[in-house]
Amino acid sequence: MIPSILPTYSRAPLSFTHGEGSWLSTEDGRRFLDFGAGIAVNALGHAHPDLVAALTEQAGKLWHVSNLYQIPQQQELADKLVEATFADTVFFTNSGTESCELAIKMARKHWSAQGQPERTQIIAFNGAFHGRSTAAIAAAGSEKMTAGFGPLMPGFTHIDWGDHDALRAALTKDTAAVLIEPVQGEGGIRPLPDQCLRGLRELCDETGALLILDEVQCGMGRTGRLFAHEWAGVAPDIMMVAKGIGGGFPLGAVLATEHAAKAMGTGTHGSTYGGNPLACAVGNKVMDIIADPAFLDTVSARAGLLRQRLEGLVASHPDIFEQVRGIGLMLGLKCRAANTDVLAAAFDQNLITVPAADNVIRLLPPLNISEDEIAQAVARLDAAAATLQKARA
Ligand SMILES: *Cc1c(COP(=O)(O)O)cnc(C)c1O
Repeated sequence: MIPSILPTYSRAPLSFTHGEGSWLSTEDGRRFLDFGAGIAVNALGHAHPDLVAALTEQAGKLWHVSNLYQIPQQQELADKLVEATFADTVFFTNSGTESCELAIKMARKHWSAQGQPERTQIIAFNGAFHGRSTAAIAAAGSEKMTAGFGPLMPGFTHIDWGDHDALRAALTKDTAAVLIEPVQGEGGIRPLPDQCLRGLRELCDETGALLILDEVQCGMGRTGRLFAHEWAGVAPDIMMVAKGIGGGFPLGAVLATEHAAKAMGTGTHGSTYGGNPLACAVGNKVMDIIADPAFLDTVSARAGLLRQRLEGLVASHPDIFEQVRGIGLMLGLKCRAANTDVLAAAFDQNLITVPAADNVIRLLPPLNISEDEIAQAVARLDAAAATLQKARA
């Protein structure tokens, strides 16, 4: 008999009753150190007092009004995002998938409005993840996500990650946009080297194709800059954001330049919930905390510490771990043992991690993780690896 919850997830047999900072507690009193953060969503940990205050204050006043009216909280957050980034304009969504939908629509509309409606092709990359809508699975293209869901939305070309020559060959007069994650998350924590992103920007400039960056997972301070592309010193035309921007409240956004967005006039797109007062009250508080340069510097310092400790861990367990990869607090441990075994062994040590492709476990702690919590997490990974090693011997 089918379960009452559609069984699309393989779930661990436990549930959490509350969270505080980087910790999650279960009914039976187990306390887990959370290095998954709801897959990079709880950017400021659980029950952050400022976020709880922002949410509850707004909850007592007004939860939702339609986008048919002015929403001052939304205006405030849009202004902050425009001020802090390349973008001239913002549309709020409720998820990364919805941000992907708009990014694709915007790119196509742009060319249609330029009198080139045939310019619809979007170049995307093998190993990518952009969400689960029909457009997003077509964009990612993997058999695992698309099997049985055809006919897929047409118009996507897939090339290998970081293959500059293949990209040059794929960019034609029909290319509307290139869509890429600066750091692949689900794909196994693979950062695109800065020179590749700069090369990509140059190719887009030569051909006019729009550059769409998916910063749903790597954005909002995760890499130690507000957005990951800032490290390369180049900017996209359109950017998808979600996950960390709401700190756990469902919120996403599409940021764009005026050039890319100007064809999206009245009636061309919409969202009932997108950017409602409750979501934006939280989003404003998240933005105030994360966009502070001092906060981002601390993220980088903590990231440096975590990375250094993880390198030591790999050196002391070469049978279990192969490599540390990633940037900032978006780190992956490529495993030699099965990543699912490592994840389970860490779980037994009350440490939560997240699996990814390419036999990687992801470490995505809250951005305000403490030095002591980093030390504890690495000690737990060390104990987990020791158990696995003993079982092998
Ligand atoms: C999670 C994720 C998405 C999809 O976001 P949802 O909120 O689950 O729809 C898209 N792109 C990337 C890079 C992601 O990590």
